[in-house]
Amino acid sequence: EQKQNEARIQHLARHDALTDLPNRIEFLEQMAKTEASLSRGEMAAVLYIDLDHFKTINDSIGHLGGDYILQRFADILVSQTRSMDVVARFGGEEFIVVFSAVEHGDVRQFVQRILEAVHEERFVFNDKDIPVTVSAGVAGIEEFVDQPATPDALIAGADDRLYLAKQAGRDCLVDASGTLRI
Ligand code: GH3
Ligand code: MG
Ligand code: MG
Repeated sequence: EQKQNEARIQHLARHDALTDLPNRIEFLEQMAKTEASLSRGEMAAVLYIDLDHFKTINDSIGHLGGDYILQRFADILVSQTRSMDVVARFGGEEFIVVFSAVEHGDVRQFVQRILEAVHEERFVFNDKDIPVTVSAGVAGIEEFVDQPATPDALIAGADDRLYLAKQAGRDCLVDASGTLRI
């Protein structure tokens, strides 16, 4: 029993209790491990994705309702990515995906599919239909020609584009080729 408890504590230290996704600590460690392959120039891209107007969702259905939406969204992220991709809850209503061994065009399609899946999903809490959209920023390793594509630089690049997606009116993705609205 003590062994089981220890294993559970170990797991909780590295995973988010609400979604069971890797947390920030686990994610950053996994990213550090991929740094070697990044420096070899292997194709990778980072997606930074954030639920739109989540404060309003909490205000309308309460924090438990908000928690439920976060869980459902985490499930969508996992089902729309491959097992080789790293999916993490980075904080609050912000998630990160690292796609490895991908072509530039494929990443756009993967992210497009995530946004489509969110559109298609019915989020119902206490018999109430909750409109949910997300905004996304993507940065790919191929964009780094003059500077090293470190995990930090990729995350910062994706975060900058997420900000642009919010400015562009939300419910869209921004990558190197511009804004895509589903
Ligand atoms: P934007 O479209 O610009 O992202 O607006 P927003 O309202 O989503 O962003 P903001 O950063 O203003 O609010 C995020 C909210 O997410 C505030 C916080 O209470 C809520 N939040 C963060 N973590 C959790 C959580 O674990 N559960 C719930 N229910 N809410 C959370
Ligand atoms: Mg938000
Ligand atoms: Mg946010």
